[in-house]
This record gives sequence, C-alpha cells and structure tokens, in this order.
Amino acid sequence: MGEYFVGLSEEDLTLLMRWALGFVLCLGAIVGSFLNVCIYRIPLEQSVVTPRSHCFGCGKVIPWYYNIPVLAWFVLRGKCAYCKSPISFRYPLIEALTALLFLLVFQMWGNPSLLGLNRLPIPELIPFFWLFVASTVVDVMIDIDHRILLDRISLGGTLITLVVSAAYPVLQGCDDWLVAVVRSLIGAGAGFGIGFAIAWLGRRIFLQDAFGFGDVKWMMLFGALFGWAGLLYILTMASLLGLVMGLGAMAVSHCRKTLREGEALAIPFGPALGLAALLWLFWGRKVLAGLEAIRTWSLDHNDAMLLVLGPVALATLAWLCVRIHFIRKAIREEEAAEAEEAEPRD
Ligand SMILES: [Zn+2]
Repeated sequence: MGEYFVGLSEEDLTLLMRWALGFVLCLGAIVGSFLNVCIYRIPLEQSVVTPRSHCFGCGKVIPWYYNIPVLAWFVLRGKCAYCKSPISFRYPLIEALTALLFLLVFQMWGNPSLLGLNRLPIPELIPFFWLFVASTVVDVMIDIDHRILLDRISLGGTLITLVVSAAYPVLQGCDDWLVAVVRSLIGAGAGFGIGFAIAWLGRRIFLQDAFGFGDVKWMMLFGALFGWAGLLYILTMASLLGLVMGLGAMAVSHCRKTLREGEALAIPFGPALGLAALLWLFWGRKVLAGLEAIRTWSLDHNDAMLLVLGPVALATLAWLCVRIHFIRKAIREEEAAEAEEAEPRD
C-alpha cells in the first residue's frame, strides 16, 4: 500500500500496518457476530436489527460485555451468564472465521506482495470482497441448517458484481468498463448454464435433486465474479469436497446406529460450493501458476506444496466440521430418546 502513504518512514508504515491489521481482525469478528444473527434470523424471516440478542434459555437480553465476539464465549465457558444453558461453539467459530477471512481479503488487495502475489494493491476492492466472504459464510451456514441458499445473495451479488466490474474493470482482467461488464455477463451466463445443465442431468439420470436451483443461482454469481477458469475450478473442487463430506457422514452414520443412512447422505451441496469459491478466491492465482508450471515442467516448490496441501487441509477441515455436526446431532438424539424413556408413563 506504499504509494498511498508517500512521505511516511518505513517504521511508521510498519506501525500503521500493524494497527490496520488489528483493526481489520476486530472488524471481522464484529461482522461475524452480526452474521450469527443473520444466519439464525433470516430463514425465520425475523428482523436482523431488533430485538437485541437474548439467551435462548432464559430470554434475558445479553449485555454488550457478554456479547464481545470470540472472547465472551471463552470467558463464559460456553454457558449463559444467568441460567447456565449452553451456548453453541458455532458462535465464536464463525466470529473467528470471519475475522480470518477479512484479514486475508485485506492482505490480498491491500498488500498483495505479502501473499506472494505479483500485482498492484487495489484497496478500493476490499469492501466488495469483504461483502462477498461474509455472504458466503451466511449462505453456507443457512444451507447446513435449512437447505436454503438465499436469492438476495445470489441475485443481489451478481448485480453488485456487474456494477463493481464496470467501476473497476481490473476485476475482470481488463481496463475497459464495457469489456469488463460483457465478460462478467458471459461468466454469469456460463455459471447459470452449467449449473442448470447439472441440475437437469441429475434429475434425469439419477432421478434426484442433487443440485438444487439455489446452487444454480449461486453458480451464476461465481461465474460473474470469477469467470470460466474459476467456475471450472469451483465445480471440480466442490464435487471433491462434497464427496469427502458425504463419505465422512456415511462413516459417522455407520458407527452411530441412531442415524439413518439416507439422512446422513442428504448433505447439502452449498457448503462444498462455498468452500471451493473461497479456495479459488484466495489461491486461484497460485493454482493457475501451478498449472502453468506443470505445463512447462518448471514446477516451483512452493506452488506445488500449496497446490496439494491447501485443498487437502481445507478438505480435512470441512470433513471434521461435518463429522462433528453429525456426532453432536446423534448425541442430542440419544439424549432426547433417554429423556423420553425416563419420563413416567401413565
Ligand atoms: Zn440464559
């Protein structure tokens, strides 16, 4: 970001950058806290602004000091301060994840050299990509809970991407606004077309809705933002991740007799799609460089490592999340069954 702060010494710049990073982490955690509210309330068609956050156990409004992102959960050890009813670990997890994603976006467009990216910083694009990662987190979590992907994210996101492409053609890899908008439109069309073809084939050949219309509309947004190469990568990676998640869920359901096979297999595709899109967002250029290096047989050691380890690490993480989700679900069901048995019958 050097050219934006001409006249500052190297030391001042380093200090300024540290403050900026701290600020971005805090901002991300606070936004993550708001995303938790969105994830819970939007599918129930409740306002995300009022009423203030309250405990699900005793209904008490949570004061600000017990609502500090990430920290409050650990201070309270995951329990409501008043009635001691448990608070899901998902809340601090999403706050921390959002903070991390905000930091990555900030580095990527504010200081690309730090991520080994050979290009100029474009800080103006940071808020746009913050919005993108936040919306991806919301969509993934709502899809896990309710099997819905929000239209306001897919359609609204596509519209915003077209406008931002016109204002910053560099987003589409060119310098003419009209070319950028046309490229974005072609990408959106390709995303919608490919998604629609998969949904149609899935229904005709496998006789099931493995790929819902919500997924199709989300693919349109990815196409508008990332273009052809991104679409192909996201689709391939999402299929791999989906397979891993499905196998993981099957293994869990096999160990836990309380889960029916079909229930475990009906994992929504949204989480895999969202994860793949984030992978492309942060490592897409590295992947392209890696592919180019493979083509010319001059594979750089770091590129090769990232190409393999990046997706593997994230796939493992995803698999763990799904596994934990199903194990906890199985435990809850067991407890519910026990409680039912313990009740006196008349
Ligand atoms: Zn409470």
